[in-house]
Amino acid sequence: MTYQHQWQDGSPVDLPVGKVVCVGRNYAAHAKELGHAVPETPILFLKPATALASLQPSFSIPSGRGSCHHETEISLLIGRTLSGHVDAAEARVAIAGITLGLDLTLRDVQNQLKQQGHPWEMAKAFDGAAPMGSFMPLSAEASLTELSLSLSVNGELRQQGRSADMITGIVPLLQFIAQYFTLQPGDVVMTGTPEGVAALQAGDALVLTLGEQSWETYVR
Ligand code: ZN
Repeated sequence: MTYQHQWQDGSPVDLPVGKVVCVGRNYAAHAKELGHAVPETPILFLKPATALASLQPSFSIPSGRGSCHHETEISLLIGRTLSGHVDAAEARVAIAGITLGLDLTLRDVQNQLKQQGHPWEMAKAFDGAAPMGSFMPLSAEASLTELSLSLSVNGELRQQGRSADMITGIVPLLQFIAQYFTLQPGDVVMTGTPEGVAALQAGDALVLTLGEQSWETYVR
């Protein structure tokens, strides 16, 4: 089925489905668990629109390509164009919605590509590599610096983080991205994962929680 952005009440979002801009190593503890230094500026990469898939009721992972890790990430739906140098207020009002998504990563493939000095796309940009929860509209007053997120798999807490622990916060991240990649209505920005990434298996039951809101799903 073709992916379309959805609001939490099940209604479709009246925006096209665009690219996904992701940031690597935006939480210090996750950078450490993968053996990396904490970067000085955000490390950006892209997933195409064909990577987007609905998180619910279930999502699939590739088979026969080694381990596929979950990276649970606060994800932002862009509602207005952001291009070049934009101020913080402009970046803030461009966020139409917020949810949690999974930056699925074929970790064995990624490690091989990295060793060879090759780009990451085969590991992170494949079809269905960005299962996306339904979006919640974002009110102008909502805090973006005090969000908490977590992932449990089969009842066991795997990932837990707070937006306060991001190396580059949500609004500064949008301002940074817009200098390199124009963000258009319908694009999604994934803001990095806290520590605790691990492999998924078919049949795993996941609960993703952002503040008071949860999304239940399973791996097909
Ligand atoms: Zn990620």
